[in-house]
Amino acid sequence: MATVALKDVSKVFPNGTLAVDNVNLDVNDGEFMVLLGPSGCGKSTVLRMVAGLETPTSGAVMIDGEYANDLTPPDRRIAMVFQDFALYPHMTVEDNIAFPLKLAGMESTPREERVASVATALGIGDVLGRRPSQLSGGQRQRVAMGRAIVRRPRLFLMDEPLSNLDSGLRAELRAEISGLTRELGVTTIYVTHDQAEALTMADRVAIMRKGVLQDVGTPTQVYGRPATLYVAAFLGSPKMNLLEASVYVHLDRYVALNLGEQSLYLPWGDIRSRAVAHYHGERIVVGMRAEALTPVAPDAPGDVLRGRIRFLEHHGHESLAFLDIGATAVVVDEMGSRVVEEPDVGSRSLRRGLSQVVQRLTGRSVE
Ligand code: ATP
Repeated sequence: MATVALKDVSKVFPNGTLAVDNVNLDVNDGEFMVLLGPSGCGKSTVLRMVAGLETPTSGAVMIDGEYANDLTPPDRRIAMVFQDFALYPHMTVEDNIAFPLKLAGMESTPREERVASVATALGIGDVLGRRPSQLSGGQRQRVAMGRAIVRRPRLFLMDEPLSNLDSGLRAELRAEISGLTRELGVTTIYVTHDQAEALTMADRVAIMRKGVLQDVGTPTQVYGRPATLYVAAFLGSPKMNLLEASVYVHLDRYVALNLGEQSLYLPWGDIRSRAVAHYHGERIVVGMRAEALTPVAPDAPGDVLRGRIRFLEHHGHESLAFLDIGATAVVVDEMGSRVVEEPDVGSRSLRRGLSQVVQRLTGRSVE
């Protein structure tokens, strides 16, 4: 097992492309860290620098507290798993898993013992004689993992290992991969542009944009408390509602959010009013998830936004209502009231009406 730390790491390619811009990131021992971001944001370059396949232009890659910039890839004791799992089709499962040990010159008896113990740990001991074409997708994934762990790496690096698969198999295998790496206890850095993959698999997610690290946190944190407007707009489907508001504090009574044509009055002491009170007199951007907005009767009292439904969208498991609330539009999940996990206060039932004003409200976008 291993820790990884990136300290002020930048990468400029010879053609002048700044692919990674001063990234600082700590990956804990045994952690499953997902690097998430759109195509070209620099996530593969970060992974390749950890693997030793690229050299940072500046900054330090530390593995287990050791300066690793000058270590060769083999000296890093890292295993990389690529797209398609890249198994050798003409070899048996046993030979596929044994291959790295053969390359390393290990004698056949200890090699066979090592392969057998890895295969048993992965639950593929009974298919050692088969070829990859005779395996299910999940079994192929396990063989690829077996081949990666057989040399006892301290770190797994995975670059979009599921990207060429159909969606059913992807969903199945993402549970397999995150389950397996946890069982094995190996620190893992996993690159993807797929947010469902990131949010379902990760212990923590690191979100990148244009070479810059935007936010790092558990899936619940980055989804519910995004650090930047970019992350707020990037994560989730439907997108988070982002509304401009002016804040007015009426001490001991309420905090008013003026949204233009209507205002919201948040009771004093309420978690939402506490989140915005220190922006008194400022214009901010308020983020509200669709599922945090609950439809209520037209004459419902309290902190309620009023809007006109433009259209409804039915998705089977949920229905979304698109509303105009004056100058802006919001999306509301029609499923009714929910309980939302608030990391600060534990879980709590939501009030009727506008149920959550999302935190970290700032007008500054990180551009
Ligand atoms: P994708 O998901 O499409 O692989 P990514 O987020 O992994 O994207 P990178 O592959 O890290 O992004 O690339 C980051 C930027 O660096 C891109 O603009 C890319 O074109 C550029 N880049 C990557 N490798 C090189 C290279 N060898 N030479 C020049 N530019 C490069």
